[in-house]
Order: sequence, then C-alpha cells, then structure tokens
Amino acid sequence: MTFNDLGLRSQVVKAVTDMGFEQPTPIQLEAIPHLLKSKSDFVGLAQTGTGKTAAFGLPLVNRITESQRYPKGLIICPTRELCLQIAKDIENYSKYERNATVEAVYGGSDIQRQIKNIRNGVAIIVATPGRLVDLIKRKAIQLNEVEVVVLDEADEMLNMGFKEDLDYILSATPNEKSTWLFSATMPAEVARIGKTYMTDPLEVSI
Ligand code: AMP
Repeated sequence: MTFNDLGLRSQVVKAVTDMGFEQPTPIQLEAIPHLLKSKSDFVGLAQTGTGKTAAFGLPLVNRITESQRYPKGLIICPTRELCLQIAKDIENYSKYERNATVEAVYGGSDIQRQIKNIRNGVAIIVATPGRLVDLIKRKAIQLNEVEVVVLDEADEMLNMGFKEDLDYILSATPNEKSTWLFSATMPAEVARIGKTYMTDPLEVSI
C-alpha cells in the first residue's frame, strides 16, 4: 500500500511525497480511507511518533481545499509547541492547494494579529483550548461552519484541566460534523468526550 492507494487527491500525495514519506504508517493506513468520508467519527489510540499528525492532517487537507469566510477545519491540541508543529505540518501537506490557509492560535502570542488573520478567512485553525475560548468569547472567531474537529492528545488536554474549555468549544461547533479524537490513553474522561460528541466512531488502536 502506498499513499496513492488511500484515496487522497494527487496534490496531497505529491506534497507528502515531497516530505520524503514513502509508505503510510499503520495508523495512516487505517485512518485515512475512513477519514476521507464526509461523515466519519474516529477514535485513535496512538502515541506520538506513530505518524498520527499525517493520519488526520492528510484527510483534513484533502477535504478542505479552500479558505472561506469561516474556518472549516479545527484542530485542538494541548500546547503551543504542538500547535506550531501541527500548523507547520498542515502547511506542508497543503502546499499544492491554491487557497487553503492555516492559522496557529495559542496563548502568549499576539492576539490582535491572530484576530486579523482569522478575519481575512482561514481554512484550518490549529488551536490550544484557552486561547480559542478567548477568541470565541471576543466574537473574533465563528465556528458555525466547521466540518471537521480534531482533538489531538485528548488525554493530555484533560490532564491539563481543559475539560470545560473543550466542552465550551465543542458546543460552539455544529452538530453535523466529523469528530476525530486522538489520545495515547483512554481514561474515563476521554471516553466521556467520545460518547458525548461522536456517533459510532471507528476505533483504531496502534
Ligand atoms: P507524529 O506521530 O505525527 O508526531 O509523527 C512522527 C514523525 O514521523 C514525524 O517526524 C513525521 O514527519 C514522521 N512521519 C509521519 N508519517 C510518516 C511516513 N508515512 N513515513 C515517514 N515518516 C513519517
């Protein structure tokens, strides 16, 4: 199996080939064909290093090809470092898309600049929970048109005390969407998020 066999558009395959990836990792093989479907809830039990960023990032970029007024893809992760890393990866995956911009939104950075960029229209937002809640409360971001939400390192986010922020953010997104949850472990609190926000997710454990 190669990246050509997973159902990705040729631009996305080209971008991933440029990155030097030759073969999909196990989580990519299992996740990508499923996540390309328009209605696709997903739970991935996977550690860092398994290739999970591309497992959600490639189908996300495949599905979201254009920046419009409001974001269509939302990735939520626990830390600023991870936020920047994911945003960089998504930019690489989308390098052959004509008009699909990515914005990293995290605490401690210039919020006015983020607000301005979001106002110009961003396709995919990568955010830490606290800063995203701040932007929603300021009415600087509108999540009504989100089609895919990714929760990355869900166990870490709950450990760090982001439970209420996550509930607040998820309730600001439409009911009709795909939710993809990644976590290294599956404590009860992560399972609760899965039960509350997903229907019949495909569950993959690597
Ligand atoms: P992640 O688990 O997403 O943090 O990825 C771990 C590392 O593996 C990153 O440096 C990726 O760039 C790399 N990687 C992800 N998928 C592949 C692949 N299919 N082939 C080679 N390297 C990959």
